[in-house]
Amino acid sequence: MRVLVVEDSPELGRQLVQRLEGEGYAVDLAADGEEGQFLGQTEPYDAVILDLGLPKVDGLSVLRAWRRDGVGTPVLILTARGAWTEKVQGIDAGADDYLAKPFNMEELLARVRALIRRAKGHASAEIACGGVVLDTRTGRVTVSGAPVELTAYEYRVLSYLMHRKGQVVSRTELIEHVYAQDFDRDSNTVEVFVGRLRRKLGVDVIKTVRGLGYRVDEP
Ligand code: CA
Repeated sequence: MRVLVVEDSPELGRQLVQRLEGEGYAVDLAADGEEGQFLGQTEPYDAVILDLGLPKVDGLSVLRAWRRDGVGTPVLILTARGAWTEKVQGIDAGADDYLAKPFNMEELLARVRALIRRAKGHASAEIACGGVVLDTRTGRVTVSGAPVELTAYEYRVLSYLMHRKGQVVSRTELIEHVYAQDFDRDSNTVEVFVGRLRRKLGVDVIKTVRGLGYRVDEP
């Protein structure tokens, strides 16, 4: 899962990137509205955290521009405490959720997980397929109840495929959702991660769809 953070406070921006990366997300950070708007329009994010008070272009204008251009990515806005008009304007502009500053980081992480789950059509925090269970809250993976140890990138790959269960995911799409923008991407490494995942899981849930990509499905 790949997340865009648009936040001009260097301290909060750094904290958000650190925590989100720790939770297994690929994260891009934009420090002003102009860069944020551009990234949101050109890169395929699974969720966006958007501060409303931003230099160059304010957050509400960024959000309105995305929605006008058909960008449907789930957006959580960060508003000033007590500013209920900001929340109303933000929701009317197309925000999916909001948090008032200062917020609790755990609450933000839970809301981001829920936004991504709902956008991908999952009602529950656990996604299961063929004995493999991915707990999106803890980042734990089990096969028939037994825990499986995964590296950060193996988890990112499995998490994306599990969220898109039953659907074909191309290698390009997978790469775009497991690496941040400035990462040197290599499609061969994705194949390596999938190979390792198959060995570690020991059940045939990651299918290769010849010429198209991968699909997680019942064995
Ligand atoms: Ca701000």
